[in-house]
Amino acid sequence: MNNHRTPVVIPNAEHPISRDQINASALKVLNGLKAAGYASFLVGGCVRDLMLGREPKDFDVVTDAHPEEVRELFRNSRLIGRRFQLVHVRFGREIIEVATFRAAPVEAGENSAQQLSDEGRILRDNVFGNQEEDALRRDFTVNALYFDATDFSIVDYVDGVEDLKQGVLRVIGDPEQRYREDPVRLLRAVRFAAKLGFRLSEDAERPIHDVASQLDEVPPARRFEELLKLFHGGSAVETFELLRHYRLFQYIFPLTEISLTREQDGFPLALIPRALANTDNRINNDKPVTPAFLLAVMLWYPMKQKAEQMIADGMSWHEASQFAGQWVIQQQSKATSVPRRFSTPMREIWNLQSRLERRAGKRAFRLLEHPRFRAAYDFLVLRADIGEVEQELADWWTEFQEVGESEQRSMVSKLSGGGKKKGRRRRRKADD
Ligand code: ATP
Ligand code: MG
Repeated sequence: MNNHRTPVVIPNAEHPISRDQINASALKVLNGLKAAGYASFLVGGCVRDLMLGREPKDFDVVTDAHPEEVRELFRNSRLIGRRFQLVHVRFGREIIEVATFRAAPVEAGENSAQQLSDEGRILRDNVFGNQEEDALRRDFTVNALYFDATDFSIVDYVDGVEDLKQGVLRVIGDPEQRYREDPVRLLRAVRFAAKLGFRLSEDAERPIHDVASQLDEVPPARRFEELLKLFHGGSAVETFELLRHYRLFQYIFPLTEISLTREQDGFPLALIPRALANTDNRINNDKPVTPAFLLAVMLWYPMKQKAEQMIADGMSWHEASQFAGQWVIQQQSKATSVPRRFSTPMREIWNLQSRLERRAGKRAFRLLEHPRFRAAYDFLVLRADIGEVEQELADWWTEFQEVGESEQRSMVSKLSGGGKKKGRRRRRKADD
């Protein structure tokens, strides 16, 4: 970055951010750095969100102090080194992340601190720089705004404030090159567009198709992290639509993409948006969500299709569903990691689906005690919504949870007495 830019500086009086909107712990860190004579800024998502009148998820601080210097300044801090060195300052349960200004990637030699792979991907990224360089290495203009703790102004090297006003997501620098350096930026583009209701600039859109396949080079663990941000950010419905629109969904859920494109009975495309709408609702009402449920939704049809194939090949239903469960996890793990703490409950949700149909005797009462009952019931309700199972079955379980014990007993006894048809009824047959 040879030619120096002068940033646009928006004084305190001319932007909407006031100090009382800033997290108290973040303010302590900012003031601590300032008192020690270092530059101290808020940066990234928190500045963007505050400018938009949204509540930031977290407050990131950036400074010209080196990590060891930051570490020495705050008793309650520690150095952490993932892709680059950062300092975490802890205040009770809260952690404020402090980064040092870093530079954008340059042509790197063998021994430099910055390394690029053959495809231009950044492998290591630990070069300190000045504020301008720090701004230019960020992904989108709206993510590169700084809030200055000394005079409470906004510092903007990339016309990010204008893009915020226009609702445009614009890549800093050459979009294709920036996507190739880190293909996860493709997913981030979709994530921010969906969450903020922004559109991608034409330049940001154009290279997506050509670079997309580079996502296969991103390690599954990092893709899983991004998956959670994509679908547990409160805008999962829009995110799903945009991921499919830009043909990026297949790099996170390859088997699901296949079941969507080969869709014969309409179920996958009905289930997923409904489930995601539920997830968004829960998140926006501060209710807990679990990746196990998301995975159960996304991988349900791939699992079922595999199981049906195994059954056609002569395997028993029970064996086939266990085999298919394992196979799906194994396949998915090539794209995103599937931690066991999520895959185990996911499979329980699946296994409980057929058990929810068998309610006679003590079975229904036992199921109610199952640790995964609630998630399995929620999943059943979704399947009933789209006509994959009888609505009566879902309604029965809804009622069963609401009534007292004696009524529960009578509900169960009515089941065995009546000529109620068991088994699943489908709106349309899968093989037609
Ligand atoms: P969120 O509200 O989802 O946390 P965010 O903008 O804070 O959004 P983070 O992933 O927390 O996103 O990253 C913080 C900042 O770091 C971003 O705003 C951006 O400036 C920079 N950044 C993060 N990831 C990348 C990346 N892959 N490439 C370039 N810059 C990045
Ligand atoms: Mg953030």
